[in-house]
Amino acid sequence: MIKTDVVIVGAGPTGLFCAHQLGIIGLKCEIIDNLDKIGGQCIELYPDKPIYDIPAIPECTGEELTKNLIEQIKPFNFNFHLNERVDEIKKKDEKWFVKTSKNSEIITPNIVIAGGVGSFEPRKFSAKGIERFEGKSVLYSIKDKSIFNGKSLVIFGGGDSALDWAIELSKNSNVTLVHRRDEFRGAPSSVDKIMELKKNNKIEIFTKYQLANVKGVDQIDSIEIKHEDGEAKSLKADYVLGFFGLIMQLGPILSWGLNIDKKTIPVNTENFETNQKGIFAIGDICFYPGKLKLILSGFHEGALAARGCFKYARPDEKLKFEFSTTSKAVKSRLGIKE
Ligand SMILES: Cc1cc2nc3c(=O)[nH]c(=O)nc-3n(C[C@H](O)[C@H](O)[C@H](O)COP(=O)(O)OP(=O)(O)OC[C@H]3O[C@@H](n4cnc5c(N)ncnc54)[C@H](O)[C@@H]3O)c2cc1C
Repeated sequence: MIKTDVVIVGAGPTGLFCAHQLGIIGLKCEIIDNLDKIGGQCIELYPDKPIYDIPAIPECTGEELTKNLIEQIKPFNFNFHLNERVDEIKKKDEKWFVKTSKNSEIITPNIVIAGGVGSFEPRKFSAKGIERFEGKSVLYSIKDKSIFNGKSLVIFGGGDSALDWAIELSKNSNVTLVHRRDEFRGAPSSVDKIMELKKNNKIEIFTKYQLANVKGVDQIDSIEIKHEDGEAKSLKADYVLGFFGLIMQLGPILSWGLNIDKKTIPVNTENFETNQKGIFAIGDICFYPGKLKLILSGFHEGALAARGCFKYARPDEKLKFEFSTTSKAVKSRLGIKE
């Protein structure tokens, strides 16, 4: 069981800057995100797009902003739990008990929900009984491509992820690409490369087909795909990979006993606390009159929520207001030697 001052749900820009503000005032936190990377919408939806309205930064991309936010909290050495969704939150002796999809258990007096528009989840196959193979031989993301060497893979999808992985994995595996339409949506250069691999018998392609059935006991042995005309085909498969994009859903956040209004969490504007003591909400997920869904608003909300957390984490201490330019304590927390 991990003990900490604050659990931050969501490693988007708002969660990251809130972590900085917690570090500055001497609190510890654990940061949890369902994605396999840090940065929320900035990194998942627009890493290469320039942002023009971050104060004092005339222009930076989603990726650059994320990199700088990560750099800014490095001195605090906070722990990230990626690929983990916060599933359960329960009150336990005046504190909060937090459990994730990977069974991490954390006890904390404060939770800051910086969950944006909800957790990013892969769009999944709808074939019956497929759940029992998920995470083993049915995958929606790839962490270690070496497990596929010499194996038979069936990749589903028609966008960039499906095409890029089909091209990459065809170097060491037997790859079949299946798409429910005739046209691929990926970059023209990737489509050309795929067609060239097909011509050279390096990959097999079936279009207008979808996954209909999976066969196997612990691992998949074979699958059945069905053409839109109804014709079925059986394919040998050690692994089935689906790349259908991401959906965002509030999911478990809806069951934490919080007031929810049109998929957002109402908060007060003094410290961004919700209707539950010790649970704060900041960034795109919070709502109050005048709320702007902008990164700069999320930064302000994170700074005030961090101060709100202090009173539950250090009930016997009074938080002193200090400037980072002049405070010895802040500089020491940042590892700055004078
Ligand atoms: C194309 C585009 C362009 C944009 N341009 C601008 C711009 O120019 N300027 C600007 O200010 N804003 C812009 N925005 C908006 C900005 O990106 C958002 O306001 C900002 O990302 C919100 O940050 P956040 O940290 O609140 O949430 P997010 O960035 O959405 O991050 C939330 C994170 O929480 C995680 N999460 C949610 N629930 C759970 C859970 N239960 N367990 C674990 N993790 C969870 C999600 O996986 C996600 O990573 C743009 C948005 C888009 C889509």
